[in-house]
Amino acid sequence: MTSSQPNSPTLTDPECLFCKIVAGTVPATVVAETPEVIAFRDINPQAPMHVLVVPREHYGDIAQLAAGDPALLAGVVALADEIAGDLADGQFRLIFNSGPHAGQSVFHVHGHVIGGERLGWSPA
Ligand code: 5GP
Ligand code: ZN
Repeated sequence: MTSSQPNSPTLTDPECLFCKIVAGTVPATVVAETPEVIAFRDINPQAPMHVLVVPREHYGDIAQLAAGDPALLAGVVALADEIAGDLADGQFRLIFNSGPHAGQSVFHVHGHVIGGERLGWSPA
């Protein structure tokens, strides 16, 4: 048996907060999951719907994920779309902060799925 189990990703970082959420050792409010991707509520929501969509495998940011496993990035986007349909009106903003100057504070790639109201626009 060579295939990895859904909850045992090949790429993990024992110090990483989101790897710990994937492993279940840090609690989170999970709203959707697939064998490859997990989505949970942001602990500090900025809108009625604010969910983080995270590949189970550890990639540092969206560029590393896109280069390393583009199909997995597509899986992240597909789950974001599904969540927006389930938790809001199907419309959403998907944000990947990349690097500390762009606001990234957890260095395991995650898309912020934001919606559930008419959003303003103040990108910087
Ligand atoms: P970033 O700043 O890296 O783009 O986004 C990190 C996000 O993770 C922030 O919006 C922050 O509120 C959220 N966050 C930080 N720690 C936790 C946690 O322990 N649990 C959950 N659910 N979200 C967290
Ligand atoms: Zn991680």
